[in-house]
Amino acid sequence: MPIAQKMVQMVKSASMIRKMFEEGIQMKEKYGADNVFDFSLGNPDVPPPLKVKETLLELIHDKNTSHGYMPNTGFPQVRKAVADYLNKEFNVGLTPELVVMTVGAAGALNDTIRALVNPGEEILVPAPYFVGYHQYAFIGGADLKPVGSLPDFHLDLDAIKAGINEKTRIMLINSPNNPTGVVYTPKELYALGQLLVEASNKFGKRIYLVSDEPYRKIAYDVDVPSVFAVYPHTIVLTSYSKELSLAGERIGYLAIHPDAEDAALIAGAAGVANTMMYVNAPSLFQQVVGKLQGITVDVGIYKKRRDILCEGLQAAGYEFDVPQGAFYLFPKSPIANDLEFVDILKQYRILSVPGTGFGGPGFFRLSYAVPEKTITGSFDGFKKAIDSVK
Ligand code: PLP
Repeated sequence: MPIAQKMVQMVKSASMIRKMFEEGIQMKEKYGADNVFDFSLGNPDVPPPLKVKETLLELIHDKNTSHGYMPNTGFPQVRKAVADYLNKEFNVGLTPELVVMTVGAAGALNDTIRALVNPGEEILVPAPYFVGYHQYAFIGGADLKPVGSLPDFHLDLDAIKAGINEKTRIMLINSPNNPTGVVYTPKELYALGQLLVEASNKFGKRIYLVSDEPYRKIAYDVDVPSVFAVYPHTIVLTSYSKELSLAGERIGYLAIHPDAEDAALIAGAAGVANTMMYVNAPSLFQQVVGKLQGITVDVGIYKKRRDILCEGLQAAGYEFDVPQGAFYLFPKSPIANDLEFVDILKQYRILSVPGTGFGGPGFFRLSYAVPEKTITGSFDGFKKAIDSVK
């Protein structure tokens, strides 16, 4: 076989996603885009705030705008803007040196894994979880180890405790969560922090908490608590993909708690990891986001869609917990086999993703980063699909 064997399995799973994507395109060609209800992709469709375009135009016309290389960790003035903003929000005394600009949250995850994990060490993650984690762990030489969650998808601290062993290096959490929309509470995060202190002592090895937060600003009626407050050995990573609807521009960062063990070394390692993979985060968009700290898309648009979708699906007889954040709903499949039910939904021209793909069998994911008319137009199909299996 001429290609790397370890990639063959990766290509197989990637082609499953591509197949779904291609099926969607074919269905839209056959039935017309308005007659296909595509909830499969988490691609933000709410426009970026006007300020993004204005700032971009200003920077394009400014002769001082840089289009060159910069330190691999990012422009100092941008890292300072991020640190200042995070200090206002979390009050942890972050210095710019502990902020590394990255190629989206994916880049930040890749940097962090490379910075922290020795070959064969484990990343513990509550299931269900974002599918990309498998790939990032794989390429970083780490083992992704899913642990169960409570029935409402909050943290199952007993399962986490039982899952930690001498190989554990990272506890990876994601709140607001993709695919469940759950926002972890201050109480459970505090308990997690305590647990990590105890486990690190028990195994004589630092376990880091890595908090993947690209949906932090997309939360409804709740404040997303700070993980910096619960455990010092924490790295927060995020992007502007969702909060500014800039997913294709590939811009994000990681921020290391000043009291984390080896904080400066982690920042250095993340910078070197940038060098190895992408050299640096995109120059122009670093400068854009540096000027737009605290600005967010209109979250009310997502909230309205969430409410419409929840109401319609509830009326049709689906079971789910109302999501508090992100733009995903994770209903229970009315039959045990979620892959089969996703196929049934397809018969009604509804595209969704089986929970099995996220390590959450028996459920399916709907992304409501779609126009309202897609949501309202789908209800008849959702009702027929559930009625067909009753
Ligand atoms: N983490 C989670 C939970 C996500 O849902 C995504 C993207 O959908 C990412 C990370 C990657 O984000 P980015 O596009 O900013 O790299």
